[in-house]
Amino acid sequence: MRLDQFLSKALHISRKDAQLLLKKNKILVNKKKINKPATKLNPISDIVEFETREVKLPETKYFMLNKPVGYVCSSEDSSNKTVYDLFSQIDKYDLKIAGRLDVDTTGLVLMTENGKWLHNVISPNKKCAKKYLVGLEYSFDMKYVREFEMGLLLKNEIKKTKPAHIEVLSEKKLYITIHEGKYHQIKRMFASIGNKVNSLKRIQIGNIKLDENLNLGEYRRLTDLEIASFL
Ligand code: URA
Repeated sequence: MRLDQFLSKALHISRKDAQLLLKKNKILVNKKKINKPATKLNPISDIVEFETREVKLPETKYFMLNKPVGYVCSSEDSSNKTVYDLFSQIDKYDLKIAGRLDVDTTGLVLMTENGKWLHNVISPNKKCAKKYLVGLEYSFDMKYVREFEMGLLLKNEIKKTKPAHIEVLSEKKLYITIHEGKYHQIKRMFASIGNKVNSLKRIQIGNIKLDENLNLGEYRRLTDLEIASFL
């Protein structure tokens, strides 16, 4: 990263003002006065100082939210509350949603300011696993386990779904793991075998599990390990 770019981000000033600071010989990098805006910097290992104070990039934010029913995964909605209504920070709209859930689906929603990280979670090419707990209207017939593994042809689609893994918990409760995210995918998968999803909760994305200590509507920052799993 260029030094003027670093200063602009860290001090919330324009690139031009960062260049002026440098011109005035006000910036130390690793204890040496540096005045060239194009100087390359390692933001992790190099120490930058301005008026004897260390200057750091603002920390990138990553959150997990336990989404309740009735909130949409969008920044605006004419009839429902949005997941952003659950956050209090002023800069909450800098957070982007890494994989949406339907308004009546609960559970794990990841949100971040890091576009590359978000891409690693949602890009179809990455085939990230998403695990859901499903409550069904009718008993699940075990004969369909293989059909879910082989792929189902959903209404209005020309290609079958990618292999989905089912773990049956009881007659009407099961886990399903999918590696894609078609519109209303899980509801449509069960509709295609004549069943109906009554409740849906996302409990895992990749290696990140929904924290059981989070009540509905609560969120927490991701740990370094959770963040690293999608870097
Ligand atoms: N599949 C659905 O049908 N709904 C969701 O919210 C997520 C996956």
